[in-house]
Amino acid sequence: MTELVAISHVDVPQSEVNTLVDEAVAAGYSVALHRAGRRFLVFARSAHGAVPGTEFFRAKSYISDVVLENSLHPLGDRVRHPQGSVVEVGGVRFGGGNTVIIAGPCSAETPELLLETAAQVREAGASMLRVGVFKPRTSPYAFQGLGAGAFEALREARSRYGLPIVSEIISVSELDGLLTAVDMLQVGARNMQNYPLLSALGTCDRPVLLKRGLAATVDEWLSAAEYLMAGGNERVVLCERGIRTYERTTRFTLDLGVVPVLKGRTHLPVIVDPSHGTGRVDLVHPMSRAAVAAGADGVIVEVHPRPAQALSDGFQSLDLPGFKQLMTELEPVAQAVGRPLHTYSDLQPV
Ligand code: PEP
Ligand code: MN
Repeated sequence: MTELVAISHVDVPQSEVNTLVDEAVAAGYSVALHRAGRRFLVFARSAHGAVPGTEFFRAKSYISDVVLENSLHPLGDRVRHPQGSVVEVGGVRFGGGNTVIIAGPCSAETPELLLETAAQVREAGASMLRVGVFKPRTSPYAFQGLGAGAFEALREARSRYGLPIVSEIISVSELDGLLTAVDMLQVGARNMQNYPLLSALGTCDRPVLLKRGLAATVDEWLSAAEYLMAGGNERVVLCERGIRTYERTTRFTLDLGVVPVLKGRTHLPVIVDPSHGTGRVDLVHPMSRAAVAAGADGVIVEVHPRPAQALSDGFQSLDLPGFKQLMTELEPVAQAVGRPLHTYSDLQPV
């Protein structure tokens, strides 16, 4: 049965919403009230099962949206923004008809490596720089990243080359430090269901790249995005990065079908990570082309000047000639689907 979901602005007094609930019940609606993050959501249906009129709810100043949908994730539902939302990160626009290319090393191994790679990917046409400083490694004996020690190098790369930076956060305790060094916070696959982390990022004023969990369904992934939006942070970009299946020829199974699925269900921009999604450098080119052709708003790839010497994920990292070749290949695909590459020259000067 179709329900109506009335979504409050953030931080409205509960007493106001209680009055709304009382009035709605008196008017014959059956109502459930949920508090999520800094918002209230009122799920309502009329007692005889018909869809309730929306005016009653829309008239309230503290209601921001009314969604007519039996949705598990009303804030991210496509019906809220049928044209799709645009998430702006330091002059780069996700959504709205662009293809954004994010490139960089798996990890900032040294400040010099970060600066060298940033210069190279910018020169080749990337719009954003990716780099890990807190690395969630499967083995505790593997390189864990430079941590807060890399923040200065990130700031230096940002000011020298102007590319906005996305980097992963694995613990709330790193948030204040990361906010001084990055433009966008990545929630990695292993933390997609870390609800305290999501709730903290929901109340922070910085865009979030939310990767799909290793074994997450679309509904679980969209529900994770609700945690961010319930806190008031609507600047969320989703990233498909492969899921665990029985297939072992690739590191993960890249689910490209999810791109059009998400486009039908959510207004949030969607990008694809073919580096982690396949774990094979020889598959990064074809799967990047396929991602753009499938309607993704961008791709994020790992690039290392000397992949054979990388401290993490060298086997799936493009070298610089490989990345330049990728840019050349993606250009006509992006044009063909009407979403031209967002290039460095589109960025605001720093
Ligand atoms: C990464 O992007 O560096 C990363 C660890 O990705 P994922 O969380 O998708 O494994
Ligand atoms: Mn990696």
